[in-house]
Amino acid sequence: MSANSKEELNFKGRVVVITGAGGGLGRHYALDFAQRGAKVVVNDLGGTLGGAGHDNKAADLVVKEIKEKFGGEAVANYDAVGGEQTANIIDTAIKAFGKVDIIINNAGILRDTSFAKMDVKQFNAVVEVHLTGAYKLTKAAWPYMREQKFGRVINTASPAGLYGNFGQANYSAAKLGLVGFAETLAKEGFKYNINVNSIAPLARSRMTEDVLPPHILKELGPEKISPLVLYLSHESTKVTNSIFELAAGYYGQIRWERSSGQIFNPNEKYFTPEAILHKWKDVNSFDNKPFKPVEHPFQLTDYNDLIVKAKKL
Ligand code: NAD
Repeated sequence: MSANSKEELNFKGRVVVITGAGGGLGRHYALDFAQRGAKVVVNDLGGTLGGAGHDNKAADLVVKEIKEKFGGEAVANYDAVGGEQTANIIDTAIKAFGKVDIIINNAGILRDTSFAKMDVKQFNAVVEVHLTGAYKLTKAAWPYMREQKFGRVINTASPAGLYGNFGQANYSAAKLGLVGFAETLAKEGFKYNINVNSIAPLARSRMTEDVLPPHILKELGPEKISPLVLYLSHESTKVTNSIFELAAGYYGQIRWERSSGQIFNPNEKYFTPEAILHKWKDVNSFDNKPFKPVEHPFQLTDYNDLIVKAKKL
Protein backbone atom coordinates (compact mmCIF):
# COMPACT_ATOMS: atom_id res chain seq x y z
CA MET A 1 0.00 0.00 0.00
CA SER A 2 1.38 3.44 -0.87
CA ALA A 3 2.34 6.01 1.76
CA ASN A 4 -0.56 8.10 0.53
CA SER A 5 -3.24 5.45 0.88
CA LYS A 6 -5.85 6.41 3.43
CA GLU A 7 -7.04 2.82 3.82
CA GLU A 8 -4.19 1.34 5.82
CA LEU A 9 -4.82 3.40 8.94
CA ASN A 10 -8.52 4.13 8.86
CA PHE A 11 -10.77 4.96 11.81
CA LYS A 12 -14.08 3.55 10.61
CA GLY A 13 -16.27 2.79 13.64
CA ARG A 14 -14.06 4.77 16.01
CA VAL A 15 -15.27 7.74 18.06
CA VAL A 16 -12.77 10.49 18.76
CA VAL A 17 -13.16 13.42 21.13
CA ILE A 18 -10.89 16.39 20.40
CA THR A 19 -10.84 19.35 22.74
CA GLY A 20 -10.13 22.77 21.32
CA ALA A 21 -10.92 21.47 17.84
CA GLY A 22 -12.55 24.67 16.61
CA GLY A 23 -9.22 26.11 15.47
CA GLY A 24 -5.47 25.59 15.19
CA LEU A 25 -4.08 22.08 15.55
CA GLY A 26 -7.32 20.59 16.89
CA ARG A 27 -9.22 21.55 13.74
CA HIS A 28 -6.65 19.72 11.61
CA TYR A 29 -6.93 16.61 13.76
CA ALA A 30 -10.73 16.71 13.50
CA LEU A 31 -10.67 16.95 9.70
CA ASP A 32 -8.03 14.25 9.31
CA PHE A 33 -9.80 11.81 11.63
CA ALA A 34 -13.12 12.45 9.89
CA GLN A 35 -11.59 11.97 6.47
CA ARG A 36 -10.47 8.52 7.60
CA GLY A 37 -13.92 7.54 8.83
CA ALA A 38 -13.93 8.46 12.53
CA LYS A 39 -16.96 9.99 14.20
CA VAL A 40 -15.78 13.20 15.79
CA VAL A 41 -16.80 15.27 18.80
CA VAL A 42 -15.54 18.76 18.04
CA ASN A 43 -15.22 20.55 21.37
CA ASP A 44 -14.39 24.23 21.47
CA LEU A 45 -15.30 27.09 23.72
CA GLY A 46 -14.47 29.59 20.99
CA GLY A 47 -12.68 32.02 23.26
CA THR A 48 -9.64 34.28 22.89
CA LEU A 49 -6.05 33.07 23.19
CA GLY A 50 -6.22 34.03 26.86
CA GLY A 51 -9.45 32.05 27.30
CA ALA A 52 -11.93 34.95 27.52
CA GLY A 53 -15.40 34.89 25.97
CA HIS A 54 -17.02 32.14 23.96
CA ASP A 55 -18.43 31.58 20.50
CA ASN A 56 -20.18 28.43 19.30
CA LYS A 57 -19.20 29.26 15.74
CA ALA A 58 -15.68 27.82 16.15
CA ALA A 59 -16.88 24.24 16.75
CA ASP A 60 -19.92 24.59 14.47
CA LEU A 61 -17.80 25.57 11.47
CA VAL A 62 -15.53 22.54 11.84
CA VAL A 63 -18.54 20.23 12.11
CA LYS A 64 -19.96 21.82 8.96
CA GLU A 65 -16.63 21.42 7.17
CA ILE A 66 -16.45 17.71 8.09
CA LYS A 67 -19.96 17.11 6.79
CA GLU A 68 -19.52 19.09 3.58
CA LYS A 69 -16.01 17.90 2.68
CA PHE A 70 -16.20 14.23 3.59
CA GLY A 71 -19.87 13.51 4.34
CA GLY A 72 -18.49 12.67 7.78
CA GLU A 73 -20.20 12.36 11.14
CA ALA A 74 -19.40 15.02 13.71
CA VAL A 75 -21.08 16.85 16.59
CA ALA A 76 -20.14 20.08 18.29
CA ASN A 77 -19.67 20.60 22.01
CA TYR A 78 -19.06 24.03 23.52
CA ASP A 79 -18.19 23.21 27.14
CA ALA A 80 -15.14 24.80 28.72
CA VAL A 81 -12.42 22.20 29.25
CA GLY A 82 -11.31 22.40 32.87
CA GLY A 83 -14.67 23.74 34.03
CA GLU A 84 -17.45 21.94 35.88
CA GLN A 85 -19.02 20.70 32.65
CA THR A 86 -15.90 19.00 31.29
CA ALA A 87 -17.37 15.48 31.67
CA ASN A 88 -20.28 16.65 29.54
CA ILE A 89 -17.95 16.46 26.52
CA ILE A 90 -17.77 12.69 26.96
CA ASP A 91 -21.56 12.56 27.48
CA THR A 92 -21.88 14.27 24.09
CA ALA A 93 -19.89 11.41 22.51
CA ILE A 94 -21.94 8.75 24.28
CA LYS A 95 -25.27 10.36 23.34
CA ALA A 96 -24.32 10.96 19.72
CA PHE A 97 -22.25 7.87 18.94
CA GLY A 98 -22.67 5.42 21.85
CA LYS A 99 -19.00 5.25 22.90
CA VAL A 100 -15.63 6.94 23.12
CA ASP A 101 -12.44 5.36 21.75
CA ILE A 102 -9.89 8.14 21.41
CA ILE A 103 -9.39 11.41 23.24
CA ILE A 104 -7.05 14.17 22.21
CA ASN A 105 -6.38 16.55 25.10
CA ASN A 106 -5.60 19.58 23.00
CA ALA A 107 -7.52 22.63 24.28
CA GLY A 108 -5.25 25.33 25.55
CA ILE A 109 -4.79 28.97 26.45
CA LEU A 110 -1.85 31.22 27.22
CA ARG A 111 -1.39 33.80 29.99
CA ASP A 112 2.26 34.61 29.37
CA THR A 113 4.18 36.87 31.68
CA SER A 114 7.46 36.68 33.59
CA PHE A 115 7.27 34.75 36.84
CA ALA A 116 8.02 37.94 38.79
CA LYS A 117 4.75 39.40 37.49
CA MET A 118 2.64 36.23 37.34
CA ASP A 119 -0.24 36.22 39.82
CA VAL A 120 -2.04 33.15 41.09
CA LYS A 121 -5.00 33.76 38.76
CA GLN A 122 -2.75 33.66 35.71
CA PHE A 123 -1.09 30.51 37.03
CA ASN A 124 -4.32 28.70 37.91
CA ALA A 125 -6.18 29.65 34.73
CA VAL A 126 -3.57 27.95 32.56
CA VAL A 127 -3.23 24.88 34.78
CA GLU A 128 -7.02 24.56 34.88
CA VAL A 129 -7.52 24.35 31.12
CA HIS A 130 -4.47 22.26 30.19
CA LEU A 131 -3.88 19.95 33.15
CA THR A 132 -7.10 19.85 35.19
CA GLY A 133 -9.04 19.86 31.93
CA ALA A 134 -7.16 16.79 30.68
CA TYR A 135 -7.69 15.12 34.05
CA LYS A 136 -11.46 15.75 34.04
CA LEU A 137 -11.96 14.69 30.43
CA THR A 138 -9.84 11.55 30.72
CA LYS A 139 -11.47 10.66 34.04
CA ALA A 140 -14.90 10.75 32.36
CA ALA A 141 -13.72 8.62 29.41
CA TRP A 142 -11.67 6.12 31.43
CA PRO A 143 -14.51 3.79 32.60
CA TYR A 144 -15.75 3.42 29.01
CA MET A 145 -12.25 2.69 27.75
CA ARG A 146 -11.59 0.12 30.49
CA GLU A 147 -14.92 -1.57 29.89
CA GLN A 148 -14.40 -1.92 26.13
CA LYS A 149 -10.70 -2.77 26.57
CA PHE A 150 -9.66 -0.15 24.09
CA GLY A 151 -8.56 3.43 24.39
CA ARG A 152 -6.10 5.90 22.96
CA VAL A 153 -5.24 9.12 24.79
CA ILE A 154 -2.94 11.84 23.50
CA ASN A 155 -1.89 14.61 25.84
CA THR A 156 -0.58 17.79 24.29
CA ALA A 157 2.58 18.82 26.10
CA SER A 158 5.02 21.39 24.73
CA PRO A 159 8.74 22.02 24.31
CA ALA A 160 8.08 24.81 26.84
CA GLY A 161 7.12 22.09 29.35
CA LEU A 162 10.08 19.85 28.56
CA TYR A 163 12.71 22.58 28.56
CA GLY A 164 11.12 25.68 30.14
CA ASN A 165 10.49 28.96 28.35
CA PHE A 166 10.74 32.55 29.50
CA GLY A 167 7.35 33.99 30.46
CA GLN A 168 5.60 30.61 30.61
CA ALA A 169 6.01 29.28 34.17
CA ASN A 170 2.28 28.50 34.33
CA TYR A 171 2.20 26.87 30.89
CA SER A 172 5.44 24.89 31.42
CA ALA A 173 4.18 23.55 34.75
CA ALA A 174 0.90 22.42 33.18
CA LYS A 175 2.60 20.94 30.12
CA LEU A 176 5.16 18.86 32.00
CA GLY A 177 2.34 17.88 34.37
CA LEU A 178 0.55 16.42 31.37
CA VAL A 179 3.60 14.26 30.62
CA GLY A 180 3.70 12.79 34.14
CA PHE A 181 -0.07 12.31 34.04
CA ALA A 182 0.24 10.41 30.75
CA GLU A 183 3.11 8.25 32.04
CA THR A 184 1.04 7.05 34.98
CA LEU A 185 -2.12 6.50 32.93
CA ALA A 186 -0.06 4.49 30.42
CA LYS A 187 0.90 2.12 33.22
CA GLU A 188 -2.61 1.88 34.68
CA GLY A 189 -4.23 1.55 31.25
CA PHE A 190 -1.83 -1.03 29.83
CA LYS A 191 -3.80 -4.17 30.67
CA TYR A 192 -6.96 -2.58 29.26
CA ASN A 193 -5.32 -1.81 25.91
CA ILE A 194 -5.45 1.90 26.68
CA ASN A 195 -2.38 3.60 25.23
CA VAL A 196 -1.40 7.01 26.53
CA ASN A 197 1.25 9.21 24.93
CA SER A 198 2.33 12.84 24.98
CA ILE A 199 3.26 15.07 22.08
CA ALA A 200 5.29 18.27 22.24
CA PRO A 201 4.53 20.05 18.96
CA LEU A 202 5.63 23.30 17.44
CA ALA A 203 3.28 24.67 14.79
CA ARG A 204 1.91 27.79 13.23
CA SER A 205 -1.23 28.95 15.04
CA ARG A 206 -2.44 32.01 16.91
CA MET A 207 -0.26 30.75 19.80
CA THR A 208 2.94 31.18 17.82
CA GLU A 209 2.23 33.69 15.05
CA ASP A 210 3.27 36.69 17.16
CA VAL A 211 6.38 35.12 18.69
CA LEU A 212 8.16 33.38 15.80
CA PRO A 213 9.63 35.00 12.67
CA PRO A 214 7.72 34.58 9.37
CA HIS A 215 10.40 32.42 7.67
CA ILE A 216 10.16 29.89 10.53
CA LEU A 217 6.36 30.07 10.74
CA LYS A 218 6.21 29.26 7.03
CA GLU A 219 7.71 25.81 7.77
CA LEU A 220 5.47 25.06 10.74
CA GLY A 221 2.25 24.02 9.06
CA PRO A 222 -0.19 22.39 11.50
CA GLU A 223 -0.82 19.67 8.89
CA LYS A 224 2.68 18.40 9.76
CA ILE A 225 1.57 17.53 13.32
CA SER A 226 -1.62 15.66 12.58
CA PRO A 227 -0.11 12.47 11.05
CA LEU A 228 1.61 11.45 14.29
CA VAL A 229 -1.54 12.09 16.32
CA LEU A 230 -3.47 9.79 14.01
CA TYR A 231 -0.73 7.17 13.97
CA LEU A 232 -0.57 7.03 17.79
CA SER A 233 -4.37 6.83 17.99
CA HIS A 234 -4.78 3.87 15.68
CA GLU A 235 -5.80 0.46 17.01
CA SER A 236 -2.83 -1.20 15.34
CA THR A 237 -0.35 1.11 17.11
CA LYS A 238 0.98 -0.38 20.33
CA VAL A 239 3.11 2.59 21.36
CA THR A 240 2.43 3.85 24.88
CA ASN A 241 4.15 5.72 27.73
CA SER A 242 6.10 7.82 25.24
CA ILE A 243 6.83 11.45 24.51
CA PHE A 244 7.29 12.74 20.98
CA GLU A 245 8.59 16.07 19.79
CA LEU A 246 7.54 17.25 16.37
CA ALA A 247 7.74 20.31 14.17
CA ALA A 248 8.08 21.21 10.50
CA GLY A 249 8.06 17.56 9.44
CA TYR A 250 10.51 16.35 12.10
CA TYR A 251 9.28 13.52 14.34
CA GLY A 252 11.40 12.26 17.21
CA GLN A 253 11.16 10.68 20.62
CA ILE A 254 12.12 12.28 23.91
CA ARG A 255 13.12 10.11 26.87
CA TRP A 256 14.65 10.49 30.27
CA GLU A 257 18.35 9.92 30.66
CA ARG A 258 19.94 9.13 33.99
CA SER A 259 23.63 9.78 34.52
CA SER A 260 25.81 6.85 35.52
CA GLY A 261 26.34 8.90 38.69
CA GLN A 262 28.10 7.99 41.88
CA ILE A 263 27.02 5.73 44.73
CA PHE A 264 28.16 7.11 48.08
CA ASN A 265 28.99 4.95 51.04
CA PRO A 266 25.98 5.45 53.33
CA ASN A 267 28.29 5.32 56.31
CA GLU A 268 27.88 8.63 58.19
CA LYS A 269 31.58 9.33 57.91
CA TYR A 270 31.46 9.43 54.12
CA PHE A 271 27.91 10.59 53.52
CA THR A 272 28.42 14.32 53.76
CA PRO A 273 27.92 17.39 51.54
CA GLU A 274 31.72 17.49 51.21
CA ALA A 275 31.75 13.98 49.81
CA ILE A 276 29.28 15.16 47.18
CA LEU A 277 31.36 18.27 46.51
CA HIS A 278 34.40 16.12 45.74
CA LYS A 279 32.48 13.70 43.53
CA TRP A 280 30.22 16.23 41.82
CA LYS A 281 31.74 15.52 38.41
CA ASP A 282 30.92 11.81 38.79
CA VAL A 283 27.36 12.52 39.97
CA ASN A 284 26.82 14.33 36.67
CA SER A 285 28.72 11.96 34.44
CA PHE A 286 26.88 10.26 31.59
CA ASP A 287 29.84 8.12 30.55
CA ASN A 288 28.55 4.97 32.29
CA LYS A 289 31.62 4.44 34.46
CA PRO A 290 32.21 2.83 36.87
CA PHE A 291 28.83 1.09 36.50
CA LYS A 292 25.78 1.40 34.33
CA PRO A 293 22.39 1.98 35.97
CA VAL A 294 19.20 1.76 33.90
CA GLU A 295 20.16 4.53 31.56
CA HIS A 296 16.73 5.47 30.27
CA PRO A 297 14.39 4.78 33.19
CA PHE A 298 10.68 4.59 32.49
CA GLN A 299 9.31 3.24 35.74
CA LEU A 300 9.87 3.68 39.47
CA THR A 301 11.36 0.21 39.92
CA ASP A 302 14.17 1.15 37.55
CA TYR A 303 15.73 2.48 40.71
CA ASN A 304 16.15 -1.00 42.15
CA ASP A 305 19.55 -1.70 40.63
CA LEU A 306 20.92 1.43 42.28
CA ILE A 307 19.55 0.43 45.68
CA VAL A 308 20.99 -3.08 45.40
CA LYS A 309 24.41 -1.69 44.47
CA ALA A 310 24.33 0.91 47.24
CA LYS A 311 23.49 -1.74 49.84
CA LYS A 312 26.56 -3.74 48.90
CA LEU A 313 28.93 -0.91 49.81
P1 NAD B 1 -5.09 27.55 19.22
O1 NAD B 1 -5.27 28.69 20.14
O2 NAD B 1 -5.21 27.80 17.76
O3 NAD B 1 -6.09 26.38 19.58
C1 NAD B 1 -6.54 26.13 20.87
C2 NAD B 1 -8.03 25.90 20.82
O4 NAD B 1 -8.48 25.56 22.13
C3 NAD B 1 -8.79 27.17 20.40
O5 NAD B 1 -9.67 26.87 19.34
C4 NAD B 1 -9.54 27.57 21.67
O6 NAD B 1 -10.79 28.19 21.42
C5 NAD B 1 -9.69 26.24 22.37
N1 NAD B 1 -9.87 26.39 23.82
C6 NAD B 1 -9.16 27.16 24.67
N2 NAD B 1 -9.59 27.00 25.93
C7 NAD B 1 -10.60 26.10 25.87
C8 NAD B 1 -11.44 25.51 26.85
N3 NAD B 1 -11.34 25.81 28.14
N4 NAD B 1 -12.38 24.63 26.44
C9 NAD B 1 -12.51 24.31 25.12
N5 NAD B 1 -11.75 24.84 24.17
C10 NAD B 1 -10.80 25.72 24.53
O7 NAD B 1 -3.65 26.93 19.55
P2 NAD B 1 -2.91 25.63 18.98
O8 NAD B 1 -1.55 26.05 18.65
O9 NAD B 1 -3.71 24.93 17.98
O10 NAD B 1 -2.81 24.77 20.33
C11 NAD B 1 -3.34 23.47 20.48
C12 NAD B 1 -2.61 22.78 21.60
O11 NAD B 1 -1.25 22.59 21.24
C13 NAD B 1 -2.58 23.56 22.91
O12 NAD B 1 -2.69 22.67 24.00
C14 NAD B 1 -1.21 24.17 22.90
O13 NAD B 1 -0.77 24.49 24.20
C15 NAD B 1 -0.42 23.07 22.27
N6 NAD B 1 0.85 23.51 21.71
C16 NAD B 1 0.88 24.28 20.62
C17 NAD B 1 2.11 24.66 20.12
C18 NAD B 1 2.24 25.46 18.88
O14 NAD B 1 3.38 25.68 18.45
N7 NAD B 1 1.16 25.92 18.27
C19 NAD B 1 3.29 24.28 20.76
C20 NAD B 1 3.21 23.47 21.89
C21 NAD B 1 1.98 23.09 22.35
